[in-house]
Amino acid sequence: MRRTVTVAGTVQGVGFRPFVFALATSLKLSGSVVNAGAHVICVVEGTRATCDEFVRRVQSDAPSLADVHTVKAVASPPEGDTEFVIAISLHAESERSSAVPPDVATCADCQAEAADDTNRRYRFPFICCTACGPRYTVVRDLPYDRAKTSMANYPLCEQCRTEFEDPHDRRFHAQATSCAECGPRLTDATIEEAISALARGAVVAVKGLGGYQLLCRADRSESVQRLRERKHRETKPFALLVDAAPTTEQLVELDTVALEALMAPSAPIVLARARPTKLVAPEVAPGTRLLGLMLPATTLHAMLVSGVGVPLVCTSGNRSNEPIIIDDDIAVKAFAEIADLVVSHDRPIERRADDSVGQVVAGEFQLLRRARGYAPRSVALQSSGPTVLGVGAELKNTTCLAVGDRASLSVHLGDLESPQTLRAFEDTIADQISFAEANVALVVHDMHPEYLSTKFAMGQDLAPTLAVQHHHAHLVSCLVENRHAGPAIGVVFDGFGWGDDGTAWGGEFLIGDASGYERAAFLGTVPLPGGAQAIREPWRMAVAHSLAAFGEVPPHVRGVLDDARLDAVAALCADPATLHTSSIGRLFDAVAALCGLAQRVTYEGEAAIALEGLAAASDVTGGGYELSGSDATAVVRAVVDDLAAGVDRSHIAFKFHRAVADFAVSTCRELRDRSDITTVALSGGVFQNRLLVELLLPMLDERGFTVLRQNEVPPNDGGVSLGQVAIGRAHLSRSQ
Ligand SMILES: [Zn+2]
Ligand SMILES: [Zn+2]
Ligand SMILES: [Zn+2]
Repeated sequence: MRRTVTVAGTVQGVGFRPFVFALATSLKLSGSVVNAGAHVICVVEGTRATCDEFVRRVQSDAPSLADVHTVKAVASPPEGDTEFVIAISLHAESERSSAVPPDVATCADCQAEAADDTNRRYRFPFICCTACGPRYTVVRDLPYDRAKTSMANYPLCEQCRTEFEDPHDRRFHAQATSCAECGPRLTDATIEEAISALARGAVVAVKGLGGYQLLCRADRSESVQRLRERKHRETKPFALLVDAAPTTEQLVELDTVALEALMAPSAPIVLARARPTKLVAPEVAPGTRLLGLMLPATTLHAMLVSGVGVPLVCTSGNRSNEPIIIDDDIAVKAFAEIADLVVSHDRPIERRADDSVGQVVAGEFQLLRRARGYAPRSVALQSSGPTVLGVGAELKNTTCLAVGDRASLSVHLGDLESPQTLRAFEDTIADQISFAEANVALVVHDMHPEYLSTKFAMGQDLAPTLAVQHHHAHLVSCLVENRHAGPAIGVVFDGFGWGDDGTAWGGEFLIGDASGYERAAFLGTVPLPGGAQAIREPWRMAVAHSLAAFGEVPPHVRGVLDDARLDAVAALCADPATLHTSSIGRLFDAVAALCGLAQRVTYEGEAAIALEGLAAASDVTGGGYELSGSDATAVVRAVVDDLAAGVDRSHIAFKFHRAVADFAVSTCRELRDRSDITTVALSGGVFQNRLLVELLLPMLDERGFTVLRQNEVPPNDGGVSLGQVAIGRAHLSRSQ
């Protein structure tokens, strides 16, 4: 028998051809394997049984970094091949795809070589092989070949070339491989200088895979404080770089799922509950019981952290709210004031990728920021269709391009209000379109007229536009990730999204799918006094909710909030021109402020994180407050009464979480009775709250609901662009 087997997906730059070679040889098949455009084409000849086994195992046994989407086998008469060969790539320019592989942290084999003083790559910062190393951040064009990466500047030396050409070698066609003789070189400072500067307490800028990072030792308050001041970052927690898994277990509580995520090839930052330790200064993560940790993604990082011997703060090299810096000239200027020392190298970073962030929620790893190590891995769509671009929301922006039956979600870009982030957003869109070489049929944007992403959509001349409601996009993002066609009851608990009635939504129950939705229920609205200012100052939401519950701000609450502008804000609440909101995120803000936690915040979600941390310390197990019908007045009254009665604030915080979970469940039951729909999709920024999800899931499960969650794609606004493209596709198929 002879079979031509076409494998599609992320199958280049991941050691796929050596794997095919080994598989075919072990099955005694003859034939060949070749990279062709976005695919790998295998031709095998042998018995029917071995050919069938090959077709099965080429998918089931694929290397861990490969992401096989489809395998198609076509039979033809045997041609009498006698051996199995790896053929030269067919660079079919017509067959392109946006399947650029993500970056991969240094594998165990390379780590062992870098630690072995007899190895020729001993302490080589750029060591990598087919199983690891940079991909997305060095790619200039497709197909993924060295000549089309920033490694093209480094011709292979003789020894590296021999490895590169040997199908039995771990570095066979490892496009980013090199050694100290032929590879990139460190510039500015040496590793030894950086280690001693860090040990002294200095702030050091390091050129990482997807951008510059700022490092300092995490155990000294004055170092961390200095970094905060220079970076203008007040309270937002810093992540830590640790040398190895055993250290992380000293610092945080990790279950097996969290440990697995930490050690994954993508090497993300994993959030986990902190243990008491002297290795981490309190300034690292003020106001939260969580710490974010990551293991080294490169040998350079590994040498720095093990050289200093204590955990290091490791944060994006930028000024607050600006994108991570990748350009060497900009870095020199920006870090003149921020860093005491810069460790750089001469290999350009082609594309920006921040460190990814995730956490374990109810036994599953959930991404909160999807960037290095994950992007631009695509998400499977249920069918093929025209190319559609989704430009995302405003905060935590990502963009998404649906091409064929895949949706390619960009790296996390951040908050668009900074001009530099906006430029990165525009560059990313141009990049996605040029990689795919596709003609965009529709540009989908948020309904909010003031979002800069909306303004971009209105100003572009690629394609017609479609405005999509923010929470509809959240719901569909969840459906797409779970390969569920819907309809479902979408429970979308969020901070802020423009509603189709001109109010700010965020406590929504939408019944629908990609083709439409009904706003079936929502949290009763209250004023959002001061708009964006109400988001930065949670005490304003406490005023709004107190007024809704009591008709006045009770004296006890006045005592807690204690702000000279309180009466002005109360007047704003009474003004009919003030925007109203159904947001659950803002209700969390109000309760946190009532508990005296976060009157003012410097990043979105700060108050809710503090409230969750407080609730987690409670030993209450029973029920919560009552959210009567669909408004929050009863719960706010109960919270205020308990506070006045001196009830432990951690119990109050817990009972509030429980009330929000009860509200979700009771509303879902009503909607199921009405619609016969038993599937619930959870999305929106509020579902980053671990405690809430862990309370809610068993309750929904017990009542017979099928629950869809977001893990691979963030439940926050980072997932909105994925929902947008699916809604855009449905719109186009309807209008045909
Ligand atoms: Zn490796
Ligand atoms: Zn070399
Ligand atoms: Zn949202």
